[in-house]
Amino acid sequence: MLTFATKAFSKTTTILVAVFLCVIILKISDPWAIRILRHNTFDIFQKISPNQKETQQIVLVEIDEKSLKARGQWPWQRNILADLADKILQQSPQVLAIDIVFPEPDRTSPSLILENNPALAQQLKFHRHDFPSYDKTFADILNGHPVILGMATGYGTDQRAPIETTTSIKMYGGDIRSTLPRFNYVLRNIEQLEKVTTQGVNNLAPERDGIIRQLPLLYNVNGTIIPSFEIETLRIANNANEIELTTENNKLKSIRLNSFDLTMSNRGKPWIYFSKNSDYTKVSANDTLTGAIDDTLFKDKIVILGVTALGIADYSLTPVGSNLSGLAIHAQALDNMLTDTLLTRPSSFFWIELSYLFLIGILFLVIHKRHGALEVTVTFAALCWTTILLTSGIFAFRTELFDPSLPLILTLIMFMISVSTGFVMEQTRRREEARIAAQKEREKEARIRKLQNELLHTIGKSSVQKLSSSIAHELNQPLAAIYNFANAARRILDRDNIDLETVKPVLEKILKQADRGNEILRTIRDAAETGKTNLSSLNINKIIIEEIELLNDSGFGRKVAIKTDLSSEITDGTANEIQLHQVLLNLIRNAKQATEEIDRVDHEIMISTCENPKGMIEVAVSDTGPGLTEDQKKDLFKPFFTTKEQGTGLGLAISRSIIEAWGGNLWVEDNNKGGATFRFTLPLHH
Ligand code: ADP
Repeated sequence: MLTFATKAFSKTTTILVAVFLCVIILKISDPWAIRILRHNTFDIFQKISPNQKETQQIVLVEIDEKSLKARGQWPWQRNILADLADKILQQSPQVLAIDIVFPEPDRTSPSLILENNPALAQQLKFHRHDFPSYDKTFADILNGHPVILGMATGYGTDQRAPIETTTSIKMYGGDIRSTLPRFNYVLRNIEQLEKVTTQGVNNLAPERDGIIRQLPLLYNVNGTIIPSFEIETLRIANNANEIELTTENNKLKSIRLNSFDLTMSNRGKPWIYFSKNSDYTKVSANDTLTGAIDDTLFKDKIVILGVTALGIADYSLTPVGSNLSGLAIHAQALDNMLTDTLLTRPSSFFWIELSYLFLIGILFLVIHKRHGALEVTVTFAALCWTTILLTSGIFAFRTELFDPSLPLILTLIMFMISVSTGFVMEQTRRREEARIAAQKEREKEARIRKLQNELLHTIGKSSVQKLSSSIAHELNQPLAAIYNFANAARRILDRDNIDLETVKPVLEKILKQADRGNEILRTIRDAAETGKTNLSSLNINKIIIEEIELLNDSGFGRKVAIKTDLSSEITDGTANEIQLHQVLLNLIRNAKQATEEIDRVDHEIMISTCENPKGMIEVAVSDTGPGLTEDQKKDLFKPFFTTKEQGTGLGLAISRSIIEAWGGNLWVEDNNKGGATFRFTLPLHH
């Protein structure tokens, strides 16, 4: 039992250690599934406590369904965009960030139409230079204003980033390019527009599950660092000529844009902290074009212009469950930077989380080894609460993302293994105990059944034997006597001169013995039917003499002499005659059998009577047999004790119960002739 428990326990410890190591390996290797699990856990933080801070700095101009309906299909001619930009720029915004890339010239420009259709140009007799290019119109409007255009990174043929953008970046400290998202291709705007604006990378990259969580602030395109759309917007908004990057241990530490400082961690790829309902000022592009807006709406604001019309714009899921247009996501990211609420995940967190996992694993192993299920449960609850409070505290007060998923999983698995094996062990122990108890019970029952069978067998046998032997014993003497007397009568009758007078006493003796036999049977039947016997006043000496006569008549006393020493002074006693004969017969027969056990010439059986000091008749039957050992004396009167091959071991037990029923005693003593003396007492008849 103990070895089983120990084995199960050490097996559990091995499983716990294996689970612990697996979790550690998962933590270090960080496969996709674990990453998704971690990111989903971070989503829960945002869902429970979304970003509450929002700046009033941002205004969105949306090219929405309404605008497309009014102005025609997308992409619009750039003279319309020029008109739109003009309307915005007239209000002197802090910056106009256009979340659109213009990689090709506008083919709807009249000059381009003529260039592409020489026949038409000839027919109309116009030269293409006589007509404006819409790209030029657009560039002219943007020129001299703080305007940012989008750029898209990707993988393709080598295309270098625009020189105007890249020269604005200065790096202090170690090189961090290897830690930035790396691309070898960038989709640029047409030269005309590039010359009059600056650009930032505006493409968004949702994760595999379609949720956008992180946004790179800087990119590495063929070894050149280029800023994101947000960083470039902030640079222009802060009138900064340069983007100053401070690095530490090859990691980005801060981004400085003139007086604006953005402290960074996690390789310049922070997490956007989304608000549930982004409540920015939004206007339709068409309303802006028609002048149906407040004429100070854009003043000193960061205006982000982009397409939100369904079917054209990119929409992405966010951790808080909303489905936002790219424009709104850029607005959220910019908002985070302005309100300093970007979420970060310092790289040191990996080591802290790893150490925390070690702490959990070791703590569980120690508690499991030294304590019981209760302590394991308490540890589980304490660790769960600690992990949850710790991580939510770090999120709420530091806007940092500490990963609770693996610590919680490890805690749960270790708890379940520890408790369930404890439970299984307990169950097995109980089952084993129940099995042993049942087995013991079965064995006990079997033993009892066996004893009962033996007892029933013995009792059944002995009852029959007792009855038959008592009938046989009792009837043996009268029958033997009748046989002897009948033989004697025949011998007399065989003589020539028959004297019938001599036959008469013999016949009387035969009759007497027959009467006695009758009486024996009646007593036995009465005792068997009622369980009671009739007591009467008896002359003990007379009964003894009769018994000796009977025994002698049946040829019993021939080999050994039966002597008597009967006190003439004793009065009558109270007993049942037949039973008294039975007791005497048992004692005399045992004495005779004892004398047969040893060779001796002077064997004798002495029967004596007297009245003892207690006022009772005392009868003694002594023999010259081997006597009794102390052990034999102890068991002698117990039923079924016998040393004889044919014995039943009931003679003395029955005799004692008969004597005791009359109020007397039966016991044994050693005598001075080396044999045994059996004595019994009888009450006097009053
Ligand atoms: P059984 O005669 O059938 O064995 P009893 O109850 O009469 O049954 O006697 C029990 C045992 O007591 C005998 O087997 C014998 O060993 C012992 N015993 C009885 N009487 C004597 C005696 N007079 N001397 C020695 N042993 C005796």
